[in-house]
Amino acid sequence: MTKQLLMGNQAFAHAALEAGVRVVAGYPGTPSSELVETVAQLHASGSAEGVHVEWSTNEKAALELAAGAAYCGARVLFTCKQVGLNVASDALMSLNYVGVKGGTVLFVADDPGPISSQTEQDTRRFASFAKVPVLDPATPEQGFAMMQAAFDLSERYHTPVIVRPTTRICHASTFFEVADTAQARKVPDEGFVPDPKWIIFPRRAYVGHGEIIQRLGEISRDFASDSVLAQFNVMFEGGAAADTDVAADAPADAAAPADAATHADAAAPAPQLGIVAGGISAAYAQDAIAELARRAKAANMDLPAFRFWQVGTPYPFPEELATEFATGLKRILVFEELDSVLEDEMLRHAGKTHASYEVLGKYTHDTRDSGENDLDDTILRLAHYLGVDALVDCQCMSKDQEDLMSLVPVRPPVLCAGCPHRGSFYAIKRALGKTPAVLCGDIGCYTLGNAAPLEAIDTCLCMGAGITMAQGFAVAEPDKKQVAFVGDSTFFASGLPGVANAVYNGHDITICVLDNSTTAMTGSQPHPGTGVTLMGSKREPISIEAVLRALGVTCIHHADPLDIDESVAAAQKAIEFAGPAAIIFKSPCIQIIKPGVPADIDTETCTGCKKCITEIGCPGIGFDASARGAKSKDRGQAFVDPTLCNGCNLCTQVCPFDAIVPGMPLESKEVAR
Ligand code: SF4
Ligand code: SF4
Repeated sequence: MTKQLLMGNQAFAHAALEAGVRVVAGYPGTPSSELVETVAQLHASGSAEGVHVEWSTNEKAALELAAGAAYCGARVLFTCKQVGLNVASDALMSLNYVGVKGGTVLFVADDPGPISSQTEQDTRRFASFAKVPVLDPATPEQGFAMMQAAFDLSERYHTPVIVRPTTRICHASTFFEVADTAQARKVPDEGFVPDPKWIIFPRRAYVGHGEIIQRLGEISRDFASDSVLAQFNVMFEGGAAADTDVAADAPADAAAPADAATHADAAAPAPQLGIVAGGISAAYAQDAIAELARRAKAANMDLPAFRFWQVGTPYPFPEELATEFATGLKRILVFEELDSVLEDEMLRHAGKTHASYEVLGKYTHDTRDSGENDLDDTILRLAHYLGVDALVDCQCMSKDQEDLMSLVPVRPPVLCAGCPHRGSFYAIKRALGKTPAVLCGDIGCYTLGNAAPLEAIDTCLCMGAGITMAQGFAVAEPDKKQVAFVGDSTFFASGLPGVANAVYNGHDITICVLDNSTTAMTGSQPHPGTGVTLMGSKREPISIEAVLRALGVTCIHHADPLDIDESVAAAQKAIEFAGPAAIIFKSPCIQIIKPGVPADIDTETCTGCKKCITEIGCPGIGFDASARGAKSKDRGQAFVDPTLCNGCNLCTQVCPFDAIVPGMPLESKEVAR
C-alpha cells in the first residue's frame, strides 16, 4: 500500500481496481472522465492486471458492453456524467429487470451549478426511476469506500448499483492509502450460463418487477443495519443535546464509524430540530455545525439541541433510519443540491408515519433551490434555523475575500486561440452572407461558436441533436438554409441516426463535421475516428466520409478550416446542394499539436480598423488604444499575444491591409498520440 495524493476520480479508479473490476467502459464527460483515464494509466503502467478499459462510442454502448461482461460474472464499471445516463437509460431500465451476475457499478457524476453541463439533472432521481440503488458520497474518502461496497451490494442482490458523486467530490484531492497493484477478479469458470432469465420477454419483466420491489425493501433495511452500508448514514446529536465539543468534532469526512450514530447526553433535552443532508452538502453542513459550535463556545453559549443525519444511501430510502432520526423532532432542515430528493422523502415519511414535524428546504426557500451549496451559505442558513443569528457576521464575505474576488477577471467561455472551429464557423457565415439560415449546434467545444463575434450557433439541445433539429427547421421553415454542426466524437456517439434520417426522409440540410481528431472538450480522449484505443492499440480509423457515403450522403466536401477561401468555397457548394450535404472541416485541436511560431502585427501597416478582432474574435489578438503608427494615427492598434497565438494564421487572411505578419504553423499537423 502507498499513501498518495489523489483526485477523487483517481481514487475511485483505485477503489474499483482493488475491488477486482475486470471491465471498465464509459464515455467522457465532465466531471467523470478522470476515472477511466486513471484505470487506463494504471493498466499501462502494469499496476492493473487483467483489466479491459475503453472509451466506448457512447454511453449506451458502454453500458451494454459492461452488461454483457457482467452476465459472465465479471465485475464491471460503467462511467458517465449525469446527462450521459440518459443515453444509456434504455439499457439501464431493462438491465435492472434482467439482473446481473458480476458486480455492476454505474459511476455517474452529477454537476450542480451546472459547471459544464446542459442541465442540473439529479441522478438520485434517475436511480429511483430505474429502481436502482444509489450511494451518494459526501467526501472523496467516502466515495472510495462506496465504490468498493457497491460491487458487493450489486452481487448480493444481482442489481446494478449507482455511485453518484458530484463535481466537488470528483475533483477534490486528498490522501488515500491505495494498493500498489491490483488484479482483476477472474471471471467464474462457468462464465455465461444460458438461462431464459437473460431474455427480457414480457413475462420475465413481470417477474423481474416483483423481484425488484422485494430486493429494494431488503436493501433499504440493509442501509440501516448492514455494518458496511450503514456507515454511509452518519447520525449524531449536538448542541444542548450533547457535549458541544462532540458536535464541533463531528466527522467532517462523513465516513464516521457506525458507533458515532448518537452522542446524546441522557440528561440533556431531547432535540426538536433536525438537519438532513446529502452529498457534498452533508460535508458543508457538518463543517457549518462545527464552526457554529466553536463560535458558540467562544461566546459562552449553547447551540440548541439538534440531530444530524447524512443520508449517504438516498435510494431505496432507509425508512427505518428516517424514523429513528425523526423521533421527537418538530422541524427538519434539508441541505442537498440539485433536486429536492431528501426533502420529498422526509415529507413522504411524515405523511406515512402521521408525524407532525415540519420540513424546510428548497420548497420553503430555506435552502438554495438551484446551483451549488457552499460553506458560507450553509453557516448562515443553519445559524438562522438554529436561532443563533448572532453567531454569524451578516457579511457573507470578509473584506479580504472581497478584495480577492475583485482580482479575478470575469472571463466568458471562448474558443481557444488558434482553434480550427473558428475558421469553420467564419466560413459558414461568409458563405451564407445574408441568406436566412438557422445554425444548429451540438455538445462540445464548438457550442462556443455562439459567442460574439462569430454568433454562428442558434441552437444547442443535447448530443447529436444538431443534425436532427436542423431537419425539423427544414420542414417548418423551408425557405431558410439549415446548417448543423457536429464534432467528430459526437458524430460517432450520437450523430449517425440523424444523418440516416436526413437521407431517408430527404431533408435539405448541410452537415458540418468539425473534425479536430479528438474528443476535445472533455480532455482529448480518442474515438473511433482517431485510430487508437484507450489501451493504446492502433486501429484503422473509421472514415467519417466513408460513413457519410454509406449512409447515403452524396454531396460531401472537404476543407481545412484554417484556409478561409477553401472553406468558404466548400461551404457554398454544400449549402447550395438540394438535399443532405456535408462538409468535413478537418484540422487538429490545438491541444494535441505543438504550437507554431506566433503571428505578429506590423505597426507600420496596421490601421487600427479592428477587423481582425470583430470578425473572428481570437483571444490571441488584443487592442492597444494607446499605440500609434503611421497608418493608425490615434486610433490605436491591434497586437498579437505571443503566449496565446499558435500561428494558425486565420487572422492574416482577415486583415484587409496585410498588416499581420504570418506566423509559422506547425509544418506537419501530426497529431501527437
Ligand atoms: S494567428 Fe491570429 S488567429 Fe491564429 S492564433 Fe494567432 S492571433 Fe489567433
Ligand atoms: S491588424 Fe489588420 S485587421 Fe487588425 S486592426 Fe490592424 S489593420 Fe485592422
